[in-house]
Amino acid sequence: MANKLDLIPITEWGIFTEFHPMVIAGPCSAESEAQVLETAAQLAAAGVHVFRAGIWKPRTHPGCFEGVGAPGLPWLQEVQKQYGMKVCTEAASALHVRACLDHGVDMIWIGARTTANPFLVQEIAGALRGTDLPVLVKNPISSDLDLWIGALERLQRAGVRKIGVIHRGFSSLRPVPYRNDPGWRIAIELRTRYPDLPFFADPSHMAGSRKYVPELSQRALDLGLDGLMIESHCRPDCALSDAEQQLTPAELKVLLTERLTVREADTEERVYRENIEQLRARIDILDENLLEILKSRMAVSEEIGQFKKEHNIAILQTRRWDALLDDMIRKGDAEGLNEQFLRSLFGAIHEESIRVQNEILAAEE
Ligand code: PEP
Ligand code: MN
Repeated sequence: MANKLDLIPITEWGIFTEFHPMVIAGPCSAESEAQVLETAAQLAAAGVHVFRAGIWKPRTHPGCFEGVGAPGLPWLQEVQKQYGMKVCTEAASALHVRACLDHGVDMIWIGARTTANPFLVQEIAGALRGTDLPVLVKNPISSDLDLWIGALERLQRAGVRKIGVIHRGFSSLRPVPYRNDPGWRIAIELRTRYPDLPFFADPSHMAGSRKYVPELSQRALDLGLDGLMIESHCRPDCALSDAEQQLTPAELKVLLTERLTVREADTEERVYRENIEQLRARIDILDENLLEILKSRMAVSEEIGQFKKEHNIAILQTRRWDALLDDMIRKGDAEGLNEQFLRSLFGAIHEESIRVQNEILAAEE
């Protein structure tokens, strides 16, 4: 069981005015004062209240545009002044945090490459101690939930209580049409462990291409995540970083106001309540049946283990297992069950069955 986080609710951060969903938008990078102010003006007109722009950019290759650095911070102050927006940027060191504090940045986020580095997270946590700057923590680039949680814990230990997370997908060897594998399973796991932790999705960095931003945004809302961070630039095609994935503020407005369906977290509506309760009751019964079946199956595994032991036979019979799995996948497929799901389900059952047999083999006579 995860340790509970001691959090100040995001409704009390003084950053967001709308919560369903919360929206953060702005360019990947602050490039010039004119680009920042023009984008902010258009986003403010589109109804966005929280502006993002990367000041220091972690780039894969050297020689790419690495952000304008601290001279860009006064541009964010202009955004606050001229459009009444809250502003946030990425901080990757104690130096960045201090520069943000000096320039009245309202919130920071920790980037995916930084979350992956406990030394840096520790350094940032140290710089935040005693301040009340809100921090959103992006997932690490690899699909390592513990590394993500570790970053949250480091911030907590430094006394940071305004914490949220941003799910931006993972680098992966699995072929996906997107720049990053959404790996929603991990987001769901984190959400389940920390239901009160404000949870954003970053469909822009997941997508890598603006054409996928709507479907990934919708997916995040379907899962009931709390907010979206979306990259938006006044002239996306001329952007110095992440040009392919940025939307114009006008496109963003259409997405937010016309294309996305916001799901309710819950409702007291009578017909919905009655039906959902019936459906949940059916699920509960089926889950109990599943438990019974698993119990019986493991009991048979124990018998097999005993039998193999008596006849001095090795536990792992890979040919038998491969044939069984192929058979299950074929039958499951005919029933409309997802192959990946069957592989991981039967993989877990097989692993447990081997463990049970191993225990029997290892037991004293
Ligand atoms: C960004 O938000 O511009 C960024 C660099 O994102 P990430 O850390 O998710 O790659
Ligand atoms: Mn970017």
